[in-house]
Amino acid sequence: ESALSRTASQYPPSAIRGVFDRVAEQERLSGEPVVKLTVGEPDFDSPAHVIEAAMDSLRAGGTRYTPNTGIVELREAVARHYGQRWGRDVLPDNVMITAGGNEALLLAMSVILDPGDEVLVTDPAYPNYLGQAHLLKAQTVRIPLEPSDGFRLTAELVEPMISPRTKLLVLNSPSNPLGTVIAPQELEKLVELAERHGIYILSDEVYDRIIFGAQVGVQRVTSVAQVRPDFGRTLVVNSLSKSHAMTGWRLGFVIADARLVAPMPRLQEGIVGCLPEFVQRAAVAALDGPDASTQDMLARYERRRDRLIRGVTDLGLGYVRPDGAFYLFVDVRGTGLTSAEFTDRLLHEQRVAVVPGTAFGEAGEGFVRLSYAAGEETIDSALEGIGMFLASL
Ligand code: PLP
Repeated sequence: ESALSRTASQYPPSAIRGVFDRVAEQERLSGEPVVKLTVGEPDFDSPAHVIEAAMDSLRAGGTRYTPNTGIVELREAVARHYGQRWGRDVLPDNVMITAGGNEALLLAMSVILDPGDEVLVTDPAYPNYLGQAHLLKAQTVRIPLEPSDGFRLTAELVEPMISPRTKLLVLNSPSNPLGTVIAPQELEKLVELAERHGIYILSDEVYDRIIFGAQVGVQRVTSVAQVRPDFGRTLVVNSLSKSHAMTGWRLGFVIADARLVAPMPRLQEGIVGCLPEFVQRAAVAALDGPDASTQDMLARYERRRDRLIRGVTDLGLGYVRPDGAFYLFVDVRGTGLTSAEFTDRLLHEQRVAVVPGTAFGEAGEGFVRLSYAAGEETIDSALEGIGMFLASL
């Protein structure tokens, strides 16, 4: 009998981890590198001025505990930045600084969910939502999205899944693994639906700086925080990981009604307590400093996306039209293989690694996720390997 707690032994397994393990094993056995379109991490360096700010802070003694909420200069910077982007008021009291988007998600769920409460999560979705809900002993209820409708999330799909126990709806736009962006009219309907049923919305917006085709000078509504003049029951989660290529810095935040933010520093006390001061000073520099590197990355992701789409189309494969993030969800149902078979055989036969769609839920069966947070040469090699694999079937 296991001596481990149910929290530990029943923690939802991560299929993405499994892919990384098999890739490492393949590289060890064959002694040859695998072409990877697996990682959900920018391949760019963090901006130079951000690194400078961190070093300046380290030298100036920014090496001690800080307030659990985050240093006031950073909360002000986040409030200023998002207030401007969203065209609305955001105050430092609306901001909680966290250890990356992941801890932000956990804290946001923690202030809403009690054991047994239900949380609605799309299928497919970023798998960590399941683990975070599990830690809180909440029940995850999946909303299956339809491949034939481009896996589009609509209020009509959500409504029948709401029960008297439902407390929270998780949104993720742009989406990992789909790359889809929820349209402004749909955001409006989702907010209206949540209000009507008295449930909260947790909006994971970590890819909000990677949205393609935005017209210059036109402010697009991409955040739930732009739908109503007050935060109401919406909690926005974001981080600098993707927007500023700062995954390893572990800097994220929750933006929500001050009443919901208020208990978060207490909850964080036993987790990480606070974030390092030098990381927070660097974050101020990232948000207040020049935006050129974020815009440059966006332009490059867009070129890579177009290149990958051209390649996949030439191979006769379909895909979900991505308007953001850096993922292409590719339809491999025509091969007659399951997602897992396709992924495993592609890895072993062509040494190309992708993630099976089923890593994000059952609805992802028949699809694989290709990440284009990878250089164009890597993308071209992967396409070549996929082409040879398809030809061999
Ligand atoms: N949310 C989504 C949808 C993600 O894809 C990721 C990272 O891959 C995160 C949240 C967490 O990001 P981080 O904790 O690095 O800020």
